Amino acid sequence: MEKLAIHGGKPVRSHYLPYGRQWIDDEDVKAVTDVLKSDFLTTGPMISAFEKELAAYTGAQYAVTFSNGTAALHAACFAAGIAEGDEVITTSMTFAASANCVLYVGGQPVFADIDPATYNISPGSIEKNITKRTKAIIPVDFTGQPAAYDEITALANKYGLTIIEDAAHALGAKYKGKMVGSLSDMTMFSFHPVKHATTGEGGMITTNHRQYYEKLILFRNHGITRQQEQLTENHGPWYYEMKHLGFNYRMTDIQAALGVSQLKKLPSFIGLRKKYVSMYNKAFEKVESVIIPEQSKGTDSSWHLYVIKLQTDRLRASRREVFEALQKENIGVNVHYIPVHLHPYYKQKGYNKGLCPYAEELYESMITLPLFPAMTESDVKSVIKGVNKVVSYYLR
Ligand SMILES: *Cc1c(COP(=O)(O)O)cnc(C)c1O
Repeated sequence: MEKLAIHGGKPVRSHYLPYGRQWIDDEDVKAVTDVLKSDFLTTGPMISAFEKELAAYTGAQYAVTFSNGTAALHAACFAAGIAEGDEVITTSMTFAASANCVLYVGGQPVFADIDPATYNISPGSIEKNITKRTKAIIPVDFTGQPAAYDEITALANKYGLTIIEDAAHALGAKYKGKMVGSLSDMTMFSFHPVKHATTGEGGMITTNHRQYYEKLILFRNHGITRQQEQLTENHGPWYYEMKHLGFNYRMTDIQAALGVSQLKKLPSFIGLRKKYVSMYNKAFEKVESVIIPEQSKGTDSSWHLYVIKLQTDRLRASRREVFEALQKENIGVNVHYIPVHLHPYYKQKGYNKGLCPYAEELYESMITLPLFPAMTESDVKSVIKGVNKVVSYYLR
């Protein structure tokens, strides 16, 4: 058996491979420098171009850019009218922002458990958590696979709830033939560098509802409007009114230009992600103690993350030991995510271990492998080699 790098052996890779990173080429650089030489650095023609293209791509009627995905979620909670005393159901197997946005508007996040097969929010657990105070659901399309929207939409209709879809992982994904971005009342995308397309920092909400669209526009610009029909007075051509306590959550034109340039490459980015995923699936489906990610019928994931689950009872090592051994092989593994309700801030608010048993169990045994379009086939092969090396060493 080959000596593991953690025991002083030769690592499978000579240099470190991160779990995700951006793809920036000369066209992207030119798009950005063109804006720098133009009249508008913020809120100019590139913002509307980016919004128009994302709306067209996702099949949504409206799209609104934000300074980042978290700001976009905050705005969506505001637009949905979530306020003090309202409950919003989300998953714990996500980044903290999916729940934090509810707290920003004074609401209370309620954590439903995941479906242990797909790791997405469980519709059964959502229904168990619905009360008279429930106002909205924030499903997360975990790793890029859309959640169970037929079931979630049926619940939303039955109980009169708004769906705010956290699709930070799922740009370009489809659910039963429909593009993510046109399935829910509002859908959030993130353009952080590890996501499918980047603007450095950036976010977007897509919606088909005019009333949400108008509130989103207000919220990202201090709650200020210049729209004639929304003004209560008119002092002259300079006049505007602040109607709500909004924020400065605007994206710059510099970022939007990068976004437009990145969207041109999105189909090829997703194609590469899918190709690497099929290499991983093929390599790992027969590896003992490794469980590959299950896909439900009707979902077409755009694959932000590739998460394997370890059957640690079949190994002589813990997840932590496997993780550290892979790091030493120069494979940038990660863990997505620490269940949100287990963070100290949430614990101090009264959320406890045991709230979401399936999410907690997954957390104990999951590892994210590197996946991004700028990696090469030979990078993918080195990850496969590294996982096989470490897992076979520790196999009982
Ligand atoms: C990235 C991400 C966000 C937040 O997006 P930012 O643009 O980083 O603010 C929210 N939810 C999930 C699931 C994410 O992965």
